[in-house]
Amino acid sequence: MDMTFLGTGGAWGLPELNCNCLICREMRRKGEKRDRTSLLLKDETTLLVDCGPDARTQLSRHSIDAIDGVLITHEHTDHYIGLDELFAYKRNLPRGSFRPIPVYLTAKSQEVIRKRFDYLEEMEVIRVCAIEPGRWFGVNEFEVLPFDTYHGPFAQGSVGFLVAARGLSGEAVRIVYTSDFSDIPNPSADLLEPDYLIIQSFWLNEPVHNRPHHMSFQRAIHFIERLRPKKETFLVHIGDADRVANDPANRQLKKYEPKDPMRPPSGGDPYPIPLNQAQWQETVNLIISDRQIPYPITVAYDDLSIQI
Ligand SMILES: [Zn+2]
Ligand SMILES: [Zn+2]
Repeated sequence: MDMTFLGTGGAWGLPELNCNCLICREMRRKGEKRDRTSLLLKDETTLLVDCGPDARTQLSRHSIDAIDGVLITHEHTDHYIGLDELFAYKRNLPRGSFRPIPVYLTAKSQEVIRKRFDYLEEMEVIRVCAIEPGRWFGVNEFEVLPFDTYHGPFAQGSVGFLVAARGLSGEAVRIVYTSDFSDIPNPSADLLEPDYLIIQSFWLNEPVHNRPHHMSFQRAIHFIERLRPKKETFLVHIGDADRVANDPANRQLKKYEPKDPMRPPSGGDPYPIPLNQAQWQETVNLIISDRQIPYPITVAYDDLSIQI
């Protein structure tokens, strides 16, 4: 199976429109970008996890000619507003040969998303399938367990997904996908020791006020240590909301004050905030080595694709 990171950025993507902070300037200088976060799992079946505003270019880049199911984590636009792009999969087939694409949603997410996209159901582009946290469902060879994640009062339908499938040599592979969240209430034992963990890292450091209920790398470390992924952890949904030392843009509303920024064990200044992909990976490597965290962690980037 191929696992492809179609996008790895936060709600507004990076570099962000109208932003001149040091992170966005550095990314423009290096020609880096992070589209809105979305994942593709492709075996005999093609499964899309989240479908944000970049869906058209993301799916075009990988020449995806059919989608067998879409898992939606929650009712925020950066995770579902691209559903209209799925029209292309109907429009470009001979009449009568298209079957509506199943889109899997919790009841709370449906309340919001159906209001916006009821016409896609009427025109048989998509077929909304109700899912419930704690109840397994199947999409052909993929077995999926949605689980509750807490992402604040405006995302009450928020879930993560445990996806179970067969790996390259036929062995069982389990992937835990968490989207935007600040907590997992009552995590089930099924989530422990997955092969792969995909987890949000919106900031490097946890802010004083985590109003958007996102996950920082600092806090993600606790979840990684609790879940104990066996092979690899990938960081996604990366933002530009950490304050970089001496950045005049720190006055911007979106730049959050860190609560207790991570520092090397020897003390001294906090770890510098990474400005680009290479610095992100270096900083993460340094932190896991300093803290002797025994789990390999990869900072995902757009179009990173691995065979599992
Ligand atoms: Zn998001
Ligand atoms: Zn969200």
